[in-house]
Amino acid sequence: MSEERDLYRVARQRMVENQIKARGIKDERVLKAMLKVPRHLFVEEALRDQAYGDFPLPIGEGQTISQPYIVALMTEALELKGNERVLEIGTGSGYQTAILAELALWVYTIEKYPKILERAKKILTKLGYKNITFRLGDGSLGWPEAAPFDAIIVTAAAPQIPQPFIDQLAEGGRIVIPVGDEFSQVLMKGIKKGGILHTQTIEAVRFVKLVGAYGFKE
Ligand code: SAH
Repeated sequence: MSEERDLYRVARQRMVENQIKARGIKDERVLKAMLKVPRHLFVEEALRDQAYGDFPLPIGEGQTISQPYIVALMTEALELKGNERVLEIGTGSGYQTAILAELALWVYTIEKYPKILERAKKILTKLGYKNITFRLGDGSLGWPEAAPFDAIIVTAAAPQIPQPFIDQLAEGGRIVIPVGDEFSQVLMKGIKKGGILHTQTIEAVRFVKLVGAYGFKE
């Protein structure tokens, strides 16, 4: 594993410099996590050489691993300091999960496709992460038994911010979620203050659909 990691270290440094720092991401902890996590291990072998490119990649079932910059942008918006309990919807490749596990106390992650979840679980376990709880199911309902969360990150696009996420966010908590139609969305950040979610838009994005009770129909 360590030899493999070294092979891609320069690619990872370039990714952080040219795609992430250059576009204004400043949170040192986020930059450090992205320098550390071996992104190439979260894609299939045939795509490894493209893993540090400035684009999303397919991970099967019509789903994708997010572009590195988008991972950095969303993670920075969560303002993680290290003691948070984070809910992630859409485990996907598990790459974003690893970044969160580096930066927070505990990550609760939900994925709807069994095959995708198993793959993510396998690599995250192999990499030694012990602060992640996995769930198979409809993440649009959140995870009421583990709420409240200090941060919620949704890596699939929703028609609006699902009410369960607002309910399950702690006072002062942050949520980052792409909201729009199937084809284009805006990344929204919300902060819960006095029980009310105060939102702002970050930038235009394109994600795969969040399907489920509070998402799109399949
Ligand atoms: N952060 C991931 C992004 C994966 S794409 C990565 O970078 O690899 C979005 C993921 O959301 C897909 O794996 C898809 O299966 C999942 N998804 C879509 N709707 C969902 C739902 N209702 N509950 C849980 N996961 C969902």
